[in-house]
Amino acid sequence: MKILLANPRGFCAGVNMAIECVEEVLKARGAPVYVYHEIVHNRHVVQGLQKKGVTFVDHIADVPPGSMLVYSAHGISPEIRRQAKARNLVEIDATCPLVTKVHMEVLRYAKRGYTIIFIGHRAHDEAVGTVGEAPDRIRVVESEQDVEQLDIPQDEKIAYVTQTTLSLYDAERIMKVLKKKFPNIINPPKEDICYATTNRQNAVMEISPEVDVVLVVGSQNSSNSRRLVETAQTAGRRAYLIDDASEVDFTWFNPNDTVLVTAGASAPDHLVHELIEQLIGRFGGDVETRTLIQEDIAFQLPKSVRRLAVVN
Ligand code: SF4
Repeated sequence: MKILLANPRGFCAGVNMAIECVEEVLKARGAPVYVYHEIVHNRHVVQGLQKKGVTFVDHIADVPPGSMLVYSAHGISPEIRRQAKARNLVEIDATCPLVTKVHMEVLRYAKRGYTIIFIGHRAHDEAVGTVGEAPDRIRVVESEQDVEQLDIPQDEKIAYVTQTTLSLYDAERIMKVLKKKFPNIINPPKEDICYATTNRQNAVMEISPEVDVVLVVGSQNSSNSRRLVETAQTAGRRAYLIDDASEVDFTWFNPNDTVLVTAGASAPDHLVHELIEQLIGRFGGDVETRTLIQEDIAFQLPKSVRRLAVVN
């Protein structure tokens, strides 16, 4: 078996920063630390932090008054902040700055009286948080059909923003239909789909033609990991999303297959290496890393976390 290992893959700057936030808070204050929603959408990361004393909650009412509460990388709506303040919680915001950027765009457009189209998956944590910034002014579209059903008068001011982890290909198709239906629609000043999503999808698109099968390490609820599977399928390849090596089914492969291995932005790299070890152990062969672009982006920890570290 030949394994092509995609680079870039795995952890992005936002995920690194969010996980470090939780670890620094744990170090400074000790358990229990509460996190609103999964800090990042990865089962292994969540279980690892649970073992260290982190409790993940889906409702602010489940956090005891006065506790430390970290917001996940996907961001939250102002309503969640209001509830946290009402319970006197100590808030640490681990929202990825690239998600915050989209929140700011929404606020700017809403203030100027625009109707905002949010292209994204309405049930995803990021979408819920972003839409919550201006719920009366935002319409969510997930598909070209959703765009066709929009009944916004042509003389209204309209702008669009997108979720950061969309499929580049889906987004492009939806934007095309939007622009056709609303020729005056304003687009965001800079692309909302983040650099990590873009680089990982581009790597899969570029390498897929050389392989028989694509394996994406990531959890089922990870939006960007699912989009990597779809990208491989768009390139005409069989693709599987697996949380770790234990989910591999060896009947997926022939011994002489070439396999592309990559990972979503929230999947730890040790899982990728364990997977490769397992494949090579079973089929033999070698690994070749394919680097499409070097990433050197890092985000600083939020001030609230840096202050905690100084105090302790
Ligand atoms: Fe931020 Fe992109 Fe990573 Fe999401 S995938 S946390 S938007 S860098």
